[in-house]
Amino acid sequence: MNRASPGAVASALRDAESVVIISHVRPDPDTIGSALGLGLGLASLGIAVRCGFSGPEDLPGTLRELPGVGLLAPLTAPRPGEVAVAVDAATASRLGDYEQVFTAADTTVCIDHHVSNPGFGDLDFIDAESDCTAVLVLQVLDELGVELTADIATCLYAGLVTDTGSFKWARPASFQVAARLLEAGVDGGKWSRVLLDSHPYAWLQMVSQVLGSSELDESACGGRGLVFACVGADQMADMNWDESESVIDIVRTAREAEVAAVFKEAAPGSWTVSLRSKGEVDLVPIARALGGGGHTRASGYSDTGTADEVVARLRAQL
Ligand code: MN
Repeated sequence: MNRASPGAVASALRDAESVVIISHVRPDPDTIGSALGLGLGLASLGIAVRCGFSGPEDLPGTLRELPGVGLLAPLTAPRPGEVAVAVDAATASRLGDYEQVFTAADTTVCIDHHVSNPGFGDLDFIDAESDCTAVLVLQVLDELGVELTADIATCLYAGLVTDTGSFKWARPASFQVAARLLEAGVDGGKWSRVLLDSHPYAWLQMVSQVLGSSELDESACGGRGLVFACVGADQMADMNWDESESVIDIVRTAREAEVAAVFKEAAPGSWTVSLRSKGEVDLVPIARALGGGGHTRASGYSDTGTADEVVARLRAQL
């Protein structure tokens, strides 16, 4: 890993001809908020900036309301002298088709908070002690002397409020950052509702089916227990892909299980899997063994096959 301080990242960005900021596939509020917050900050200094993420999934509708969303565009190859920044991506492959855009740039920067991130930039500003990537972006913006506008603060708040589960597991430093962002003009109530407490009515029906067919195995994980549920592609037919992302937050509340898993069928036979633990089981080696990564208590990976096959492969790792 090429460890870099926020100051070192700031000087690379200040000297750039232009900057391309790349979010991870199946983008969440932290990766998009970090990209747009950094993008708006660099633009305020007169630096040419563009942001993007690789499909096939669309930008979740809730994130289309964020300030700076106009910076998002399909990305072409890097320009001479351009600095590429990956935000909230634990590996280069999480950039999807835009991994090539990243690696082809003259200078590459990785800003992230996943403990599983091995570092993949010329400059790696990776801090697994941070609750979200957006907080790390704020440190870079501070080094650049960017004025914290309400728009920038709103983008960063989106990452902070979602990656801390509405501050349920936020560290003390995150509350200090939250105070600063709110004082800069963020409408905290509005963004909590938009990002965390808003679903189409069809979501209620989908959740009721999925929870009804969830399974509990108290003998799994050496007796610590596993609870899991599958969201089939057919159950998501009427909704955007991101509406399945919050199901894990309900499933993991089962008291009898240390580990929770939700299998989401992105396309028939193609699954993304969310894992959560209550703290006794480290999920990073489990997710890594299945080709993914993440945090100790929240990880994920992708798999292909029937529901029974993907469930069996996880159970074999526990
Ligand atoms: Mn994050």
